[in-house]
Amino acid sequence: MNADLERLIALQRLDTAADSAGRRLADEPEREKALRARLEAVRTRVATSKEQLATNQNARRALEKDVALHQGRLSKFRDQLMAVKTNVEYQAVQKEMAFAQGGVKTIEDKVLERMLEADELAAVVKRAEAELAAEQKAVDADRRSMTAEHGELQTLLERIEGERAEIVAALNKQVLAVFESVARKRNGIAVAEARNGICTICHVRLRPQVFNTVRRNDAITQCDSCNRILYFVPTPAAAATPDDVDQPAP
Ligand SMILES: [Zn+2]
Repeated sequence: MNADLERLIALQRLDTAADSAGRRLADEPEREKALRARLEAVRTRVATSKEQLATNQNARRALEKDVALHQGRLSKFRDQLMAVKTNVEYQAVQKEMAFAQGGVKTIEDKVLERMLEADELAAVVKRAEAELAAEQKAVDADRRSMTAEHGELQTLLERIEGERAEIVAALNKQVLAVFESVARKRNGIAVAEARNGICTICHVRLRPQVFNTVRRNDAITQCDSCNRILYFVPTPAAAATPDDVDQPAP
């Protein structure tokens, strides 16, 4: 294979790898944002469930005050009952007492409802808190792996930079200029494989004489349509047979 063509293929691989590493690094703020959002969503659920429990407790306290109020009235009626002089008065006070007792009963039923509801709400709070703890753990793990990946990507980019510089130094300057010009216009992809007479990136059929040239891999040939520099991967003549595998002695 033409040495410069071989260098261009390697250069393209490096540039493509650097591009995807760069994108992954550029994605980090977005990924961090997503992690925060995940935590925030569970935190909100915890806060909401706690608020509901607090509302329930406040309502219960208010009801219990009402019960005390009614019971105060009841004991006043009992005192009055001792002091009544007539049957009519007696009946009137008793009627008031029955009414107050009914009130106490209604409110006590409501207190009971609130207590049952409080048990459910407390369980919801507990579940949400457990979920938050688990999510915090998962997010911490994701952050750690993001940090580790960040280091690996930086190392990779440095390695690519070094390898790229070596290839660029060895490349014919005109060939490099063609590569860079096509890369600029074609989203960073300046080299394409030609297969079955077709440029595999723009999918345009090559003229037969162009494809024949490309098949030889001995010159810098560009696709007529997308201008990418073409190369050909010969299909292996025969499938490898495991002949060379050591056989156990008979
Ligand atoms: Zn093409």
